Amino acid sequence: MNDILQTKITYLPGVGPKRAELLQKELGLVTFEDMVMHLPKRYIDRSRIFRISDITDDSMPYIQIKARVVAIQYIGQGRTGRLVVEVYDGSAVAEMVWFAGINWVQKHIERDREYIFFGKPAIFNGHVSVVHPEFELPNDPEGVMAMGVQGVYSTTEKLRTAMVGSRAQYHLMHALWSRIAGHIPETLPEYLIQRLSLTSRAEALYNAHFPPTTEALQQALFRLKFEELFTIQLSMLSQKKIRTEQSMGYIFRSVGQKFNTFYNKYLTFPLTQAQKRVVREIRADMGSGHQMNRLLQGDVGSGKTIVALLCALIAVDNGFQASIMAPTEILARQHFESLSELCAPLGVSVELLTGSTRKKQRTLISQGLLSGQIDILIGTHALIEDSVQYAHLGFVVIDEQHRFGVMQRAKLWTKSELSPHILVMTATPIPRTLAMTLYGDLDISVIDELPPGRKPIQTMLFRESERLRVVGFMREQIAMGRQIYVVYPLIKESEKMDYASLEHGVQAIVEHFPHPTYSNVVVHGKMKNDEKGYGMGLFSKGEAQILVSTTVIEVGVNVPNATVMVIESAERFGLSQLHQLRGRVGRGADQSFCILMCGDKLSRPSRARLEAMVSTTDGFALAEMDLELRGAGDIEGTRQSGQAVELRVADLARDTKIIAQARQQAINILEVDPELHHPLNAPLRALITKPVVQNEIIDVSKIS
Ligand code: ADP
Ligand code: MG
Repeated sequence: MNDILQTKITYLPGVGPKRAELLQKELGLVTFEDMVMHLPKRYIDRSRIFRISDITDDSMPYIQIKARVVAIQYIGQGRTGRLVVEVYDGSAVAEMVWFAGINWVQKHIERDREYIFFGKPAIFNGHVSVVHPEFELPNDPEGVMAMGVQGVYSTTEKLRTAMVGSRAQYHLMHALWSRIAGHIPETLPEYLIQRLSLTSRAEALYNAHFPPTTEALQQALFRLKFEELFTIQLSMLSQKKIRTEQSMGYIFRSVGQKFNTFYNKYLTFPLTQAQKRVVREIRADMGSGHQMNRLLQGDVGSGKTIVALLCALIAVDNGFQASIMAPTEILARQHFESLSELCAPLGVSVELLTGSTRKKQRTLISQGLLSGQIDILIGTHALIEDSVQYAHLGFVVIDEQHRFGVMQRAKLWTKSELSPHILVMTATPIPRTLAMTLYGDLDISVIDELPPGRKPIQTMLFRESERLRVVGFMREQIAMGRQIYVVYPLIKESEKMDYASLEHGVQAIVEHFPHPTYSNVVVHGKMKNDEKGYGMGLFSKGEAQILVSTTVIEVGVNVPNATVMVIESAERFGLSQLHQLRGRVGRGADQSFCILMCGDKLSRPSRARLEAMVSTTDGFALAEMDLELRGAGDIEGTRQSGQAVELRVADLARDTKIIAQARQQAINILEVDPELHHPLNAPLRALITKPVVQNEIIDVSKIS
């Protein structure tokens, strides 16, 4: 084995125990292998030197300037003290600033000498300044600046202070390479390398650290990204194969009488093409003999509930029970009300079980479930308490998946001999590439079409200073008989402040919309369930015109007469959350509006998010944008449930083509050699034994 790659980085000249500790803490680097896999986070053209006078805004990336030192002074005292070095390049003066490592800088920088400075410029009082730049003499034989394409390694303030910034890391990488060259094993099979004309792994790593040309760099990065993504796809797909082949499932032989009666007699609208397709997909799974594990994605209002009901009816027609689990009491109750009404004429019995179900009722439900008298049970987490036993649970729907902890989901599975078929529904659109990577082992259905006749919601952005206009608009809508949601952000870390802002907001609403002309209700997370239910009830019956709330209403609430969604401090919400909230309106025939209220000052990313909201109502498009703006780790539905895709090289937002390509190659290979027994595929077996993605969904699908 190539143990040299497992050598601790302490053994690298220039890395003492102290720096080693820092590199581990800040970048997670322990071994030579970690270090060689620590690729530059970006590349810059170091042959390019900027003129100071050309640096005109803050948004410039890392750049180089070549300038003479004209003054060196220490400003301030103690902890606020800083070293300011004024430099001049013939076009303008700029300030190089150090808050730490000042002694070292003072020793290495001289007045009247010319240096190359490298760093991220900012404009301060009309002057260019660079905090903690790296610098060297223009003709330094050991210098790395001004040399063509070069990597920039990620650093932190602490690393820079300890002199292991990007440039130092570059030098370390050189030292490292002389030790490990010739010891980097190939990981992909030869035939795959040939087929895709891939650079060898060793060459790719070398070129990624020390790119000889832009072209070689591109090829190197492609090879490394491909390998990473291919490994994930291969692992996921082979696990999926194992799961579908080994996990037996109940067979629902036919679409029965209740389904047909409902479909032909009681369904008041035609299904959209997308809904029909999804029902067919689920139907096929249910008859396959294998347990279904399907993720159903569909934008808010796309009509997932009716799909769930239709499939539950198939289960009932085949002599099984179904359960539908909702994330909140309010939503469970709402599902119960609409579904029990729809089921009544069919003779299908539906019950509701939540945390606030009384003991007596609970006992009755237990009996009904065990005797098989209850066909469909709707509820919250209460559904999966140990005391809840089913006669023959065959189908489980989990609505708004990202709200549930994995353990909660897992418990439900154990309630029947064979695993019931599972349908997880989410209104959080997950970009295709992300879904492929996160849920690559699940089957995915998508409802990508809204029921006809919906008018797109109009979204408008207003500043605090324009509030009176918004109030006027709200009054107009109320005068037309419509209802309005006003939502305040609620973020755990600052709960107190949030409730304060909610209270403040409620006061303002009461002033602008006084009783008895207007009627308002307030609902928030600190209320008891009864109180919440009561408030929601008033609003859904149309007895209150304005519902002021925290994000408790985010999921699922359906009041078609509500046409305005006002989101306060909209800049504090993520894109997908804003989109979810907006989906609460636009459910009836009337034109609906979403009003985003924001502070008078906005950061660049907040502005980008809010403008995206105004520009489109397509949830998938927004999810793609979210992915680009925030990166994969931040997307709702990935972070909330604690899933982490830890990619070292590839970028889920940008490398979509490579993801598709990697997936296709994995599919092709598994088709010919499903268990990777062929000797040529031996390297692949080794590749997929290491877990690459920490994906909770994978574990869940294996619970029986
Ligand atoms: P979501 O996917 O957000 O859960 P719902 O299932 O709550 O959406 O559906 C939203 C509304 O659209 C409901 O009032 C539902 O009755 C209605 N609906 C669903 N499918 C159709 C359809 N094919 N045609 C017309 N209305 C539909
Ligand atoms: Mg829903």
